[in-house]
Amino acid sequence: MIGNIHSVFSGGTVDGPGIRFVVFMQGCPLRCKYCHNPDSWEFGVGEERSVKDLTQEIIKYKNYFGTQGGVTVSGGEPLVQIDFVTELLKSVKSYGINTAVDTSGFTFNENSEESVKKHEELSKYVDLYLLDIKHIDDNKHKELTGVSNKNTLNFAKWLDKLGKKMWIRHVVVDGYTDDNEQLLKLSAFIKTLNNVEKIEVLPYHTMGTVKYQKMGIKYALEGVNPPSKERIIEVKNILKG
Ligand code: SF4
Repeated sequence: MIGNIHSVFSGGTVDGPGIRFVVFMQGCPLRCKYCHNPDSWEFGVGEERSVKDLTQEIIKYKNYFGTQGGVTVSGGEPLVQIDFVTELLKSVKSYGINTAVDTSGFTFNENSEESVKKHEELSKYVDLYLLDIKHIDDNKHKELTGVSNKNTLNFAKWLDKLGKKMWIRHVVVDGYTDDNEQLLKLSAFIKTLNNVEKIEVLPYHTMGTVKYQKMGIKYALEGVNPPSKERIIEVKNILKG
């Protein structure tokens, strides 16, 4: 099976536990204003790689993963290519390697039997989900990403029922995702889930702006500064309740 890959990185330390081989899948239906990888948006481009070829590359690093590390599939939105990701993680797991998926949960549709089935099949090969909840308020989520948060929140509940381990991730952007009242609502939602092992609060950064310039796309967060360390601590405390 062939997938469209944006890039791979063999020394990841920020996308799941330990040292990880990160596969960034190409293509994303969201348009997060703070996205630092606009070059990962377009579908059907990127490098075409087979499950077999990518697995062979990954297993070379097996000894570096130690007891905690492994493989993380990220993006773009990786689950747009869910069939490929399922086959890849099935293959990687057969070598005893730990697996994680970093997703917005957008592709999950609880009303579609096919969607649920595909996510169910994938979940057999995923040790940890890194689930990005970008905004708890649906309208604000739409303003920020162009899409509803309904699928994301439903996916969180569904994964929880399945008993899958999750890390919830939230990017803090001044004036967009750091309203205390909304953060309390997000915290209350997270508290309804039983399998959240960690809440990761990630500061917005401006490192992707050069890509926007190169691609000739207007950067929506022009002039917005990264949050202070103190604010990140405050947000962590609110979310952890
Ligand atoms: S989901 Fe990720 S890749 Fe897609 S637009 Fe948002 S930040 Fe960018």
